[in-house]
Amino acid sequence: MAGFAEDNNFDVIVVGAGNAAFAAALAARHQGARVLVLEKASQKLRGGNTRFSGGLFRCTYQGLEDLIPLVRENDNPETVALDPYPAAAYHRDVERVTGGRADPELSAVLIDRSYETVQWMADLGIPWEFNRAVGAVTVPGSTRVKLASGAALRVKGEGVVLSSMWFRIADDAGVTVRYETHAQRLTTDQSGRISAVEVRGPEGVQVLQCRAVVLASGGFQANPEMRTAYLGPHWSLVKVRGSRFNTGEMTRAALAAGAQSYGEWSGCHATPIDADAPTYGELRLTDKTNRLSYPFSVMVNLDGERFTDEGADFNLYTYAKMGREILQQRSAVVFQIFDQRTVPLLETRYNTGTPVVADTLPTLMDRIAERYRALGFHKETALASVSAYNAAVQEGTFNPDILDSKHTTGLRPEKTNWATRLERPPFVAYPATVGITFTFGGIRINTAAEVIDYLERPIPGLFATGEMTGGFFYLNYPGGAGFMLGAVFGRIGGENAAKFAASLPR
Ligand SMILES: Cc1cc2nc3c(=O)[nH]c(=O)nc-3n(C[C@H](O)[C@H](O)[C@H](O)COP(=O)(O)OP(=O)(O)OC[C@H]3O[C@@H](n4cnc5c(N)ncnc54)[C@H](O)[C@@H]3O)c2cc1C
Repeated sequence: MAGFAEDNNFDVIVVGAGNAAFAAALAARHQGARVLVLEKASQKLRGGNTRFSGGLFRCTYQGLEDLIPLVRENDNPETVALDPYPAAAYHRDVERVTGGRADPELSAVLIDRSYETVQWMADLGIPWEFNRAVGAVTVPGSTRVKLASGAALRVKGEGVVLSSMWFRIADDAGVTVRYETHAQRLTTDQSGRISAVEVRGPEGVQVLQCRAVVLASGGFQANPEMRTAYLGPHWSLVKVRGSRFNTGEMTRAALAAGAQSYGEWSGCHATPIDADAPTYGELRLTDKTNRLSYPFSVMVNLDGERFTDEGADFNLYTYAKMGREILQQRSAVVFQIFDQRTVPLLETRYNTGTPVVADTLPTLMDRIAERYRALGFHKETALASVSAYNAAVQEGTFNPDILDSKHTTGLRPEKTNWATRLERPPFVAYPATVGITFTFGGIRINTAAEVIDYLERPIPGLFATGEMTGGFFYLNYPGGAGFMLGAVFGRIGGENAAKFAASLPR
């Protein structure tokens, strides 16, 4: 395939090298197109957020029998149980978490083509397994675990394997990848068709001619200037959970080429992460900085106050918006406090952090104050908050597998589930802050993954997919739908880009 790279003339250029980009690249290649993938990162740091991820894909299924052909020999179906997840349930979840704002036509395609797209990926060689990591619960009296509704499937080996498999599959298929090649502008010919991509790379600035472009370069979450401009000033200093390379310049380039902006530009997915985590995601940690066992904790901010109902719901339904709540707290730092009843329930990801530990609650507060001296922790108020909480806990049966309604009475805010007293030492406090995952706003595509302008007309030769598109998620998102949208619309966009390219005169 080296010859393709030499003539700088491709049918389809795909910008980005994450999940969405490779779905597009492969679909275009299968149509016979000559495909070039542009990756801003070096070969060592390649792969975008995809590589950092948990590899969870949200797709429809009627039952276990739909998933067995996908997981193949990678997993044992005897060990799991699940409820069907038909399209109607997926629609309900999207509607519920986005407050009914998600684009109905785009959502319908995402949902209707989800299962066949994971099947397509399985046929290409992506290995699947059952997702026991997030939201799965043990079935009482059985050795099976019950998988979370809609979140039954993930890539075996998570994002690291998903990413490396995409690179391998693309290489085998004859897709060329250029590293350290930062796309910065789109060129339009006189007819209005997108005809080239200007890049800055190892060979300087070049204009790469092509017949069609698929944009798949992610959100703008790693760009502090755009975060501040669109999400608000508080977001300027937050930590980024994943790739440092998703900085939004091709979103801007598409807008400059006439693309319609769409979706919740002031919205993003953000979760509680270790307050001591690095500023950008690191590949040695991938998604292991998450701090999602807070439903079993008591959380206090630097002023020593509880600020939220830690147990409002299972973490899968609250983690994306919990990040925003933490951001409202002073310096965006809080402490999740556990005792020896709840420590065994911590996700194993907590092992990547360094907790504050003490045999009494007053000593715990002293130690937090000492370690986070620069931030100013109000230890007396924190102790009073925890004492008030302990006194307000009502009797009931604690059960982490269900919404157990074991609650507090008389507090503001109450804890409505999993309220157990902090009484079994040693006590353990994990510092948490907010980590941004991806942004919700972006450019507008139609159901053919064509980028459309303000008159709702496709911009000829321009397609997009993945986190750089808007209209799918608002306020929150159902876990696993990010990958699914990238793959579904990547496949559609890649195929249509190749067809568009083939339709042009040679
Ligand atoms: C820690 C973590 C865990 C996650 N877990 C999940 C999960 O389990 N399930 C799920 O659905 N979602 C998950 N997500 C969200 C997830 O990131 C997305 O769903 C998915 O990775 C998005 O794919 P994408 O291809 O759109 O973007 P990315 O995978 O981020 O790819 C973008 C690509 O574009 C490149 N790029 C950027 N700008 C340019 C440019 N100007 N020129 C050239 N290349 C450029 C980047 O280097 C990168 O290769 C997670 C995210 C994080 C950070």
